[in-house]
Amino acid sequence: MVKYKRILLKLSGESLMGDQESGISVDMLRHYSEQVKEIVDLGVEVAIVIGGGNIFRGLESAAMEIDRVQGDYMGMIATVINAMALQSALEKIGVFTRLSSAIEMRQIAEPYIRRRVIRHLEKGRVVIFGAGIGSPYFTTDSAAALRANEIGANLLLKGTRVDGIYTADPEKDPKATKYETISFTDVIQKGLKVMDMTAFTLCQENNLPIIVFDVNNKENLKRIVLGEKVGTLVH
Ligand code: UDP
Repeated sequence: MVKYKRILLKLSGESLMGDQESGISVDMLRHYSEQVKEIVDLGVEVAIVIGGGNIFRGLESAAMEIDRVQGDYMGMIATVINAMALQSALEKIGVFTRLSSAIEMRQIAEPYIRRRVIRHLEKGRVVIFGAGIGSPYFTTDSAAALRANEIGANLLLKGTRVDGIYTADPEKDPKATKYETISFTDVIQKGLKVMDMTAFTLCQENNLPIIVFDVNNKENLKRIVLGEKVGTLVH
């Protein structure tokens, strides 16, 4: 019945703020966890990468006179805080989860071991990846692309505030139109922003399709896994 058996969902840290200026919004946690539960109940295997932009980004470190690498590690720790919040929200509504961290912190997360993660997914547990890929100079988009390929996900889902990829930024240009589908090469040639290049080319080289969609619409995740046309498909 479902079109995609195993998916990786990338959520930005910034989106966790909801209407707030910073931090983690309880409404957003509920919103995400309810959507995830719906597709888990349909039998989809779900892995999640969540960013840390609502708490700290490596690029902000310069202004604080903090070394870039140190700042990137701070950003990675920020993603673990978000991952823990999301884990709690999911477990509260009865979804079994595991938090898998690229940086060892055994008291709160298991260390990332690919085979173990795949086993969790097969057993219907939602796996949340914390600490990105564990290396500075990367983003959580790269972590999403890397882990999605490693675990053999059928699809990478990038949740955003807009409902797909547009010819221009739809929040700035009212004439911008949306692509239903677009090829990897066209995204690069047209200079459209989907993810950072490292993440994007990793998906391209491994033929991993990406759907960019509006994560604020609570029907979308379910509609996508059922095969409905939502957002923009990059393939
Ligand atoms: N980061 C990193 N390596 C990774 C993942 C993340 O160094 O593999 C750091 C980087 O500084 C980044 C921050 O963690 O700015 C938070 O992640 P990101 O900016 O991707 O979060 P989002 O924009 O999705 O909220």
